[in-house]
Amino acid sequence: MLTKPIVIKADEDEVLDIELEEDFLKANERMAALNRRTFDRAGAKAIDFMGSIGSGKTSVIERLVEALKGKYKVGVIAGDTTTAIDAERVGRHGVPSLQINTGKECHLDAPLVRKAAKKLLRYGVNLVLIENVGNLICPAEFPLGAHKRAVVVSVTEGEYMIKKKQDIFRAAEVGIINKKDMAGPMGIDPQQLVNDALEANPRMKVVVTSARTGEGIPELVEALEL
Ligand code: MG
Ligand code: ZN
Repeated sequence: MLTKPIVIKADEDEVLDIELEEDFLKANERMAALNRRTFDRAGAKAIDFMGSIGSGKTSVIERLVEALKGKYKVGVIAGDTTTAIDAERVGRHGVPSLQINTGKECHLDAPLVRKAAKKLLRYGVNLVLIENVGNLICPAEFPLGAHKRAVVVSVTEGEYMIKKKQDIFRAAEVGIINKKDMAGPMGIDPQQLVNDALEANPRMKVVVTSARTGEGIPELVEALEL
């Protein structure tokens, strides 16, 4: 009988094209630096929202748009593999929104964001909210040139989500524990998720929100320094 699970780890030489991959990452980082300069020159702040499909990234962004559209000229870039659902949802709030369809790519990268940002900045936007493709793994490795990165995780994703995906929490400055209104039915203590996020990244600002009710949105605005 197995008491401990067998763990199979990929050896370095089993991972294909490692050098090529490093070049990709470096090229992305260079482009991200260019994006940052473009945002700065336009006097715009940019924030990258990462998180799984269904964690509530779009709903959080919709709440932020409503909270901030009196103070900033907000624009949104939404990343998804194939649909334009997110940009349409945000567009209903009367702000310019662009959809990037990545096809098979499971993350946004800096060149894609560059294209969209240049279009969006023509509208005079000074706050760019970027919704990354729903994925808790590789977006962490692809900075987009945003001034801040936020990661959204919901209580409905279960109690181990953060412990299992610490890298993305280390790559972000702000953690958003969303769907607080579902914590009771899910039997999850949001404070435990806050603690997990802080364990992964002690410098992170962590906010508990419910995009459905609006709870925690003012605290999130503050954490994002907006
Ligand atoms: Mg979405
Ligand atoms: Zn990916």
